[in-house]
Amino acid sequence: MNTKITIAIDGFSSTGKSTLAKQLAQQLGYIYVDTGAMYRAVAYFAMQNNIISATIFDKVALIAALPSIQLSFQFNPTLGFAEMFLNHENVESQIRTIEVSNYVSKIAEVSEVRAKLVEQQQEMGKNKGIVMDGRDIGTVVFPEADLKIFMTASAATRAQRRFAELQQKGDNVSYEAVLKNVEERDYIDTHREDSPLVIAADAIEIDNSSLNKEEQFAIVFDLVSQVIIK
Ligand code: C5P
Repeated sequence: MNTKITIAIDGFSSTGKSTLAKQLAQQLGYIYVDTGAMYRAVAYFAMQNNIISATIFDKVALIAALPSIQLSFQFNPTLGFAEMFLNHENVESQIRTIEVSNYVSKIAEVSEVRAKLVEQQQEMGKNKGIVMDGRDIGTVVFPEADLKIFMTASAATRAQRRFAELQQKGDNVSYEAVLKNVEERDYIDTHREDSPLVIAADAIEIDNSSLNKEEQFAIVFDLVSQVIIK
């Protein structure tokens, strides 16, 4: 397997995109990029700088602040994946809270934010050998990707998974709050004007409501092998 390809994984919130992407990257020796982490880091920055809260969203201030937002990934060998750094600070755990989840889709609607992040993502993938997950990877970031996967599962299944994850981290949040967040993000992500979440015409859709991680990985790895052999 010498030909390096570009793999785009898109789909709804909490469909297990990152689990699958990490497994693929590890197996193939590819770079893995979680683009959701980048939008989350911008949302976290906006929260820290009083740009977004329950009562305000100052888009002008956000756009003005963009040049001072520096995002990077640093591989953590113990965890086996790259952690998100915002202006040289490791924000990996701060960006996974329900508060950030509640604001991130509003931040991701802003075209100027998207333009900045997409440019950085395209730069990271220019040499191929990459697995990138997000909402617009197969449609906007890498429309020429060699393999496009679109992941779905019922909102209840996804909320249950995310709820279990948050509970494990000790986050004291209710299942209803997680479900509400998943449904709200689905709505905003599919209805925004710039780069809405849509399935690319050439993407392969996988509903993993009743698949475990191993079954899902086997299906996708088979698809990857077919593309690489071609
Ligand atoms: O993947 P994750 O759930 O962490 O993404 C958080 C949010 O970031 C999404 O709900 C979406 O609003 C935004 N996002 C996006 N485009 C991407 C990745 C994430 O708009 N490529």
